[in-house]
Order: sequence, then structure tokens, then C-alpha cells
Amino acid sequence: ALHALRDDELITPPDVTAAGLREALTEMAKVVGDNNVIVHTAKSMKPDTEGQYYNLPKEHDLFYILEKEHFLASAVVSPGSTVEVSAIVKLANKYLTPLWPVSMGRNLGYGGSAPRLRGSIVLDMGHRMNRVLEVSDRDCTCLLEPGVSYFDLYNYLQSNGHKQLWIDNPDLGGGSVIGNTLDRGAGYTPYGEHFSMHCGMEVVLPNGEVMRTGMGALPGNNTWQTFQYGFGPYPDGIFSQSNFGIVTKMGVWLMPDPGGYQAYLFSFPKEADLPEIIERIRVLRIAGVIMNAPTIRNTLIDAAVYGPKSDYTSNKGVLTSEEVDAIAKKIKVGRWNIYGAMYGPEPMRDLQWAALKASFMEIPGATYEFPKPRAEGEPRSILHMREETLKGLPNTYELGWLDWTCPRGSLLGFSPISPATGVDALKQYEMVTKRFREFGFDYMGTFVVGWRELHHIVCLTFDKSDPKQRKKAHRCIELLIDDAAAEGYGEYRTHLCFMDQIASVYNWNGGASLKFNETLKDALDPKGILAPGKSGVWPARLRGRGFEL
Ligand code: ADP
Repeated sequence: ALHALRDDELITPPDVTAAGLREALTEMAKVVGDNNVIVHTAKSMKPDTEGQYYNLPKEHDLFYILEKEHFLASAVVSPGSTVEVSAIVKLANKYLTPLWPVSMGRNLGYGGSAPRLRGSIVLDMGHRMNRVLEVSDRDCTCLLEPGVSYFDLYNYLQSNGHKQLWIDNPDLGGGSVIGNTLDRGAGYTPYGEHFSMHCGMEVVLPNGEVMRTGMGALPGNNTWQTFQYGFGPYPDGIFSQSNFGIVTKMGVWLMPDPGGYQAYLFSFPKEADLPEIIERIRVLRIAGVIMNAPTIRNTLIDAAVYGPKSDYTSNKGVLTSEEVDAIAKKIKVGRWNIYGAMYGPEPMRDLQWAALKASFMEIPGATYEFPKPRAEGEPRSILHMREETLKGLPNTYELGWLDWTCPRGSLLGFSPISPATGVDALKQYEMVTKRFREFGFDYMGTFVVGWRELHHIVCLTFDKSDPKQRKKAHRCIELLIDDAAAEGYGEYRTHLCFMDQIASVYNWNGGASLKFNETLKDALDPKGILAPGKSGVWPARLRGRGFEL
């Protein structure tokens, strides 16, 4: 395919000529096989009518915000082993072709599998490296390759005699366990904080060297998946949301079946109930009475899972509070809804339940329910769906709300962190709804209390076929990042287009944190070939040359 393309069609990265890119890709094909190198041009981008969750474009962002071509890859290369990854990395150093590693590349709302720097080669780690390498029933651990999705891991455990081991999946089960963990994603069982639940990595460094972290550094060890730290400085953190290494294996802790489970929903009728809810959750969560990260969802995100906006109203503008009240009544949820679960045998759950009920039912108008068995053919309620997610059953129900305003709707994520207090939750909610009203978007969001902090997950859905809407969505989030920073809030994760802006607001003491990352970057990756620009970290070769956004 490479021969058939003209030089000016190739998407060459900075400092690389068309001839250089051709040579690099030809050499890479010798390592991974011709079939595992796919060259891309503006013409070969997957058409908008085809891209979807199970058929994602690997070369550009499915939910593009800037022009579709902006974050376009020059090629997608799929290695089959750690040895092949290392060989590809060495070639990238030789030809200066940047590599952008993804595992499944389903990072929805944050850029998918698209590279931050146009012309980078997407290294599709999951396509061929997709084995569950080990499972230990004794230690409740596993060792995975990047291409193991939550569905894959679940199915593997179910069909290989490990039904007593639960997994923890995020809202969508098609993502990679390694990819989600490296991007510091979260799920909803007691093991929901994914990065804290990983144990040991194998990493290909930017010079091609292979390293194992934690106990993995000790030859012949028998504790790689059970003790996270090993000896000396703990490097795992610098391989998350970073461009310091390519992870080829990762250990993950699994939760033994807790011996009992009950999902629940508390609903609250008033928009103004939010602060009181958050105050109560914080206390119960930090005390460990709530064992998982419960979500507090607004009416519209639930409504959107059931159907598009046009099912509820002919109003195409931003819905008023009264209109949202009416939708809440129609779908029988509150203005705010806590979806949570209790884990353990009945006597344990009874104690948890008494504490939860005593606290939440003090809020006037609060109601609660448990999932009812479904009659045959009866559709699932959101509570039925969350009941599955909260016990680690992978699913894709949450894709439903993407289509709130248009079919094939797109998502842009905005995810600031704040203290888990009522005052902060309200400030966040008001800050976002004000901007959303200004730009014409309905607020859809959920508040999640992690160990102690509040993740505010704001879901901006838009119609990518309308360039005006894309501009509005972009500008709206740009302003919100600054609004948030002015209140001391920072995002925990972001779309490609905001990585530089967010890195620049994390600037205490003259930007000491970014300087530290750049120092590491230049030491580990002197040629600047690994994921340039990821999280706002650029290598010396490309820094300050106008690639920052
Ligand atoms: P998922 O499909 O699980 O949503 P991705 O595969 O898109 O996740 O990964 C999310 C992000 O994590 C990527 O954009 C990349 O920055 C990082 N990442 C994923 N896999 C790897 C890996 N094997 N090595 C290094 N970084 C990775």
C-alpha cells in the first residue's frame, strides 16, 4: 500500500521526510509482518458513517473536536510481543518517527486512539497482544497483556474455573484493563480505583530496553503480582498518563466474591439537594461504610440512556429546571440519584444498610429502591444496569446517552477534582451549568466519591457533523478549565486538545511539576519518539516549536 501512495499524501511527522517515513514503515513491517502495518492518509480515514464503539477508527479521534485530520496518525502498527515492541522502538529512534501506544484505543471522550502529535504512528498494543497470562486463585491476582478488555477478562475467568474472582470494570466494558489503569480510570466495586489495584508492570522504555517494576526486578521472584513496591524508588506512577514507557504486561488484583451483594438507589427530588447528599456520602465513604465509589447522577444522564432528547421534548434549546423536573417524574428518578451497592454476607449488609438509610432518608423527599426482578421482555431500568456494573459485569449500557441530541452523537469529557464537600459540589455544578447554558448544552453529569475526593464527570455531548457545535464545545471546556483552576480545581484526565492547557494550570512554584516531567522525558527519551505531547509533556526536540495547543 505504501508504494501506491504519493509522498504528499503521507502524513509525515515533524523532522521526518516522506522517504524517511517510508523507510521506517518498511523496516517496521519486517518486524511485525506486512499485515500489521496500516498506512493512513486523509483519504483513508474511516468515514463518519462507519466509526462506532465496536468498529473504532484507530487513526483519528472518533469524536473529533478540531478538524477530523488534526490528530491523524501516519500509520497503525500492531506488535505481537515485547521483543517486537522493543525492536519497533529502536527503529523509531533511528527514524525519529513518534509512536503513540494504545491498548484498545477506546478512550471515549478523551481522544480515542488518536495521537496527540499528527503523523505519529499508533502502536496498537492490544490487537495481537491480548492474552491473560496468569491467574492465581490463591492470591486473587492476574497478569495481563494490553489487549485484554474487561469483557475478555470476565469471560476468561468465567470459562476457566475462576468464577469466584470478580473484576472491576468502568462504565464501558470494551476498554482495555491496562489502558484504563494507565489512564487512571475508575470502576465501581471496592476495587474501583484501578491504579491502586495494579501490581507490577513490564515496560519497554523509550530506548527499547525492557524493565520490570516492583518485585519483577528480582529474577526468580514469586511476589510480582502480590507486592507492589519492590525496593527503592517506586516508578510505576511515572508510567501512567505519561510518555515514559510502553507497558507490555501488568498485574492486577481481583476481588474474591464477597459472599453477598445488593445494589440500591436513593433518589432525591430537588436540584438543591446536591450539597446535602455529598456531605453525607463523604462521611460514610471515608468511614468505609460505603465500600465502593457510588455515583450521584443527574436526571438527564439517566434519561439519555433511555432515549434521545426528542423522546421527551420538542425544545431544542437548553432545558429549564422545570422541564428536567418533568422528565424526572416521567422516568421515575430524582433530580439526583445515588447508585451504590453493598458487598458481603447479609449480616454485614444489614449493618451497612441501616447506616445508609438513617443518613440519606433524613433528606426531605428522599426515596430508595432495590432492583426488582424483571418480567420477561421487560426493559432494564438504570438501576438494573448499574446493578451489573457495580458487581463487575462488563456492559455498554452507558453508550446510550451519547445520542442525546443527535444520532451518532459525540462526547467530550470534562473531569475536575474537588474536595468531597457540599460547598464544592454546588460550586462545581453551578460553574458547569452556567457555561453550558451560555454555549447551549444540557448538563449531563455524575459525581463520584473516590477514596476521599469528588470526581465530577461532566459529559458534553455534541454533533460533530456541525463545525459550529464543535467550536462551541471546545471553547466551553477551554473556559471551564480556567474557571475550575481559579477555584483550585484541576482535571484528573483530559482530551488531547486540552493536555497543554491543563498541564499549564498545574503550575505551582513556577511550573516545577512540568519541569520535573520534562527532565525525566529528556533523560529517558532523548530522541523524543514516545507519545510527544501526552499530558502536556513534550520532548526537547519538539518543545516550543508550535505544536502546543
Ligand atoms: P481504553 O481502550 O482502555 O479506553 P486506551 O487503549 O485508549 O484505553 O488507552 C488509554 C491511554 O492510556 C492511551 O491514550 C495511552 O496514553 C495510554 N496507554 C494505553 N495503553 C498503553 C500501553 N500499553 N503503554 C503505555 N501507555 C498506554
